Amino acid sequence: MKRKKKRLADLPCSNAGAPRQSHQVQLHQPPGPLKKQELPPAASSKERGIHHPRAEAHAPPSHQPPPRRAAHPLTTTAMAAVMSVSAVVPPAAAVARARTLLCVPATARAPREMAAEVAAAAALGADLAELRLDRLAGFAPRRDLPALLAKPRTLPALVTYRPKWEGGEYEGDDEPRFEALQLAMELGAEYVDIELKVADKFIKFMSGKKPENCKLIVSSHNYDNTPSAEELASLLAQIQATGADIVKIATTATEIVDVSRMFQILVHCQEKQVPIIGLVMNDRGFISRVLCPKFGGYLTFGSLEKGKESAPSQPTAADLINVYNIRQIGPDTKVFGIIGNPVGHSKSPILHNEAFRSVGLNAVYVPFLVDDLAKFLSTYSSPDFAGFSCTIPHKEAAVRCCDEVDPIARDIGAVNTIIRKPDGKLVGYNTDYVGAISAIEDGIRATQQTHSTVSPLAGRLFVVIGAGGAGKALAYGAKEKGARVVIANRTFARAQELGNLIGGPALTLTELENYHPEEGMILANTTAIGMHPNVNETPLSKQALKSYAVVFDAVYTPKETRLLREAAECGATVVSGLEMFIRQAMGQFEHFTGMPAPDSLMRDIVLRKT
Ligand code: NAP
Repeated sequence: MKRKKKRLADLPCSNAGAPRQSHQVQLHQPPGPLKKQELPPAASSKERGIHHPRAEAHAPPSHQPPPRRAAHPLTTTAMAAVMSVSAVVPPAAAVARARTLLCVPATARAPREMAAEVAAAAALGADLAELRLDRLAGFAPRRDLPALLAKPRTLPALVTYRPKWEGGEYEGDDEPRFEALQLAMELGAEYVDIELKVADKFIKFMSGKKPENCKLIVSSHNYDNTPSAEELASLLAQIQATGADIVKIATTATEIVDVSRMFQILVHCQEKQVPIIGLVMNDRGFISRVLCPKFGGYLTFGSLEKGKESAPSQPTAADLINVYNIRQIGPDTKVFGIIGNPVGHSKSPILHNEAFRSVGLNAVYVPFLVDDLAKFLSTYSSPDFAGFSCTIPHKEAAVRCCDEVDPIARDIGAVNTIIRKPDGKLVGYNTDYVGAISAIEDGIRATQQTHSTVSPLAGRLFVVIGAGGAGKALAYGAKEKGARVVIANRTFARAQELGNLIGGPALTLTELENYHPEEGMILANTTAIGMHPNVNETPLSKQALKSYAVVFDAVYTPKETRLLREAAECGATVVSGLEMFIRQAMGQFEHFTGMPAPDSLMRDIVLRKT
């Protein structure tokens, strides 16, 4: 077993204060305008004179990953610490990087189905498939492995036979397991995974018989937490000491900031040319699976389909390729995302990633499942984390976390968009109110067929149900446009509070049922009533709806809520929350990029995919 790779433990940690070299200066450099995505290189890595051991070692020509751009800026404060340690090594620009591979785990119970999964993974565009032997029912190595590894194969194979004590399903002794893994090597498996706890034993068992073209992945899985950076560094050194060709460390996130420590290790390994798979499991670790190409991870796993994940919160390979464009993610890719809790249901990644792609931006948009907003923003503090959408429950905290807040967003008391300026300052905006109010104005104008520049809300009685973030946005926006605003809310004290702020009366929801001071009123629901799955609920009876000329519903799943359906039946002009969603997202896109939003494309994506 060759032991060429440098170890983190070998690093002169005392150099923490050493001056930073060129690649590190970027930490403090303004990001500048967003760059259009660089086109993939036309020439192969060999033609470009870049040695590419990863691709050459295992992949058939069509699987050869292109070379990557090299140096990348640091992205967390924690990373800055580690990167200062590595100041003595040559700048990363000198280091050739291979593309992060996409591996699909094949987890079927029968060998024939597993082979079909591998073929399906190849059709999806995966780079390799992980054969999870421990998943096979009645697995007989000498009978099943020759079939599973028969050549020609559609994809390179990573063979894993995970024992129960490391999160797998194999319950027997080590020896038969080792024999199966050795047989897989002899049959030409490109990668074999062995757990750190038994790596030395396995290597002894192999007694030097590992084929040259098979790479040994030595893995460690922590299903409880993500250790400190120091502990991760020590784990890395332990794995390297086994003689592993590739290090694999999988931990578990208890909060999203845990992932920064894994990024830190990836960045370090990339500098040292140590191939590493570094992933953080569960929903708070999700970004590790999407952003590892930015930080130099050797591979990321994507499931064949939902329900076939081999680890908690593994995305599908199709989403990694089609939604997150991981093939385009590199060191210079800017990171945007939606901060919320929960956030997994959000359609914003689909929308923004496709919009970024349409204008050729080197940027990715991910869901950030955040518990503590201030901690998140101070951890992911580099200019590379360039902008955020903010949703429940962080919109109000976002006002406090920003260095500057747009005056209307401050009045509303809610920020749904955060931009990191070149000087690092965070600026907060609210695009909800512009999105909602312009949607309602246009909805009314469409029925009036006038070209007046005066807002059709001016002078109208505008009833807002709800006093939360969206309620405040609608109330302030309507007031700005000259409407007379009334607030109705379940918690009456909150209705009063908002009413006082905007100078309008407050109602209880019961009072609202019989509220009919005049004709032609406008109603805006800003509560979640009627939202999927509670689609039969509605905030106001059909009888009461007869008093309204225009009805807007912030809820957009389903597109036509019961409120809107009944309002339309009563003859009101109805405006869907989907229109608000599209417009607030377009506003965010413009803040993120400084470019006009691709209006029809974003509209089309929302209608097609949400
Ligand atoms: P929020 O700050 O939590 O406020 C929720 C409001 O709804 C509060 O006034 C709350 O009343 C009221 N409410 C909640 N459940 C209720 C119930 N069962 N009965 C009566 N009132 C209830 O939330 P938000 O950010 O304003 O979002 C509210 C809704 O707007 C959500 O459905 C969200 O998806 C939607 N929204 C849509 C868009 C879009 O682009 N279309 C944008 C933003 C928000 P209490 O004060 O009594 O708790």
